[in-house]
Amino acid sequence: MPTVCELLNSAEQLLSSSDTAQLDSEILLCHVLDKDRAWLRTWPETSVNPEHANHFKTLIESRQAGTPVAYLLGSQGFWSLDLKVTTDTLIPRPETELVIEIALKLSLPPKSAVLDLGTGTGAIALALASERSDWQVVALDSQPQALRVATENTQRTGVTNVQIIRSHWFDQLAQEKQFNLIVSNPPYIEQNDPHLQQGDVRFEPKTALISGADGLNDLQHIISRSGSYLTDKGWLLVEHGYTQGQAVRDLFTEAGFDGVITRRDYNGLERVTLGQWLL
Ligand code: GLN
Repeated sequence: MPTVCELLNSAEQLLSSSDTAQLDSEILLCHVLDKDRAWLRTWPETSVNPEHANHFKTLIESRQAGTPVAYLLGSQGFWSLDLKVTTDTLIPRPETELVIEIALKLSLPPKSAVLDLGTGTGAIALALASERSDWQVVALDSQPQALRVATENTQRTGVTNVQIIRSHWFDQLAQEKQFNLIVSNPPYIEQNDPHLQQGDVRFEPKTALISGADGLNDLQHIISRSGSYLTDKGWLLVEHGYTQGQAVRDLFTEAGFDGVITRRDYNGLERVTLGQWLL
């Protein structure tokens, strides 16, 4: 029977074209053995039974073929939550946590009504709802498969103040519905962006990534329609591509938003724009 150390060494060799070969190998072996990385380091000479060794080998082969680690694990950490992910949903990104940080700093009334457009795994809606138990969060998505994952994540996290509905953007919302905050991480990649052929995004749903020739179709739709669904002094907060800051600020201003500002992510890139709706 192979040892922990032998399995890791051969996996790292198979994945050597990736700069996360060691980390990926360790995370996947932890997953198979249900141990943490400290355990792997402490017990490198432990023998691994054939069933576990074969399972690990299958995962490493899929990783070698490019499958993102999150899809192999079936879960991804976001904010304080451990979320289920499937190939029907985008994998929650660290930069999207900026949306949560900014939203939590806004001065919003108690019991605020919040809307998450294109919720996917439910990441944004669930993170906000978990931090503010008095908020009522509506999370919507047009894709039934994504809604299944979001619903499972609601149960998995035990968050009770999120309502999940199927809607293409605002289509199924009653016109009179008013929110104190609307958030969205919509698709925003250009249709012909070469990044779509590289790395993890190749495996993610195109509907969650691509938005027309300039990547701005959905942002434009959301920004132009949001005002009708915001209370006086309500906020719209959207994630976007790092080259889209100026275009998105222009869309906010044209739509009549006030105090429009873009915030940079941890890589120093323009990533989230917000504006306030004043009646
Ligand atoms: N941030 C993602 C990426 O660049 C895109 C997510 C999105 O389109 N909302 O891969």
